[in-house]
Amino acid sequence: MSIEENVKQVKERIAAAALAAGRRPEDILLVAATKTNGADKVRQAVAAGVDICGENRVQEMLEKNAQGAYEGAPLHFIGHLQKNKVKQVVGLAELIHGADSLELIRVIDRTAAAKGLVQELLLEVNIGAEASKSGFAPEEIPPTLAEIAKMDHVRVRGLMAIPPVCASGEENRPYFAQMEKLFIDNGQKKYDNVRMDFLSMGMSGDFEEAIAFGANMVRVGTAIFGERVYQ
Ligand SMILES: *Cc1c(COP(=O)(O)O)cnc(C)c1O
Repeated sequence: MSIEENVKQVKERIAAAALAAGRRPEDILLVAATKTNGADKVRQAVAAGVDICGENRVQEMLEKNAQGAYEGAPLHFIGHLQKNKVKQVVGLAELIHGADSLELIRVIDRTAAAKGLVQELLLEVNIGAEASKSGFAPEEIPPTLAEIAKMDHVRVRGLMAIPPVCASGEENRPYFAQMEKLFIDNGQKKYDNVRMDFLSMGMSGDFEEAIAFGANMVRVGTAIFGERVYQ
């Protein structure tokens, strides 16, 4: 199957899942998770109509960006961001999905200030409370939002999660349900610099379940590009 056909199928599945949940297909954004796939394949995905390109590694993103891989689609950073790489990402990625500590967010704020811009981000929630994963615990979200309200160069646009690896999408439902509740609850209180617009969750194996629980950004790699080949 070509990338074009894969994107078409994924979009059809997104639309079906949205309609089944009583939601509008056009409200759900498809982020192509492009890691390990070269500029040519990324261009094919953009031409096929993915809404956004999501990159994981800073070096890879800079290389593909120099090759014009993302032309025609917004670029998001969806990987784990190290503090020493913030400078290369701020201003280039429209949205940073994995803002996983207040320390990192302060660095992003300072870097964005130096560049004279406001960086948008999603708070990453460690919804499975996994020791191996970074991200905020659910109870840390409100105090974190209160801190971000005092910053001038970052804006929170929503939440993101990568639930524990489960054998099936169905097993992820409790995690997606918890995320939906956090998204709604934390969106009710008003903070400066915070707008709960986006709930980023769901990957190739479980994006339909995520959509059933309110996801409006799904990050899909394998179902678009095929199995990844790591060099
Ligand atoms: C790779 C990746 C995805 C996509 O995973 P697939 O299972 O290939 O769809 C989504 N989100 C993040 C953060 C990723 O790193």
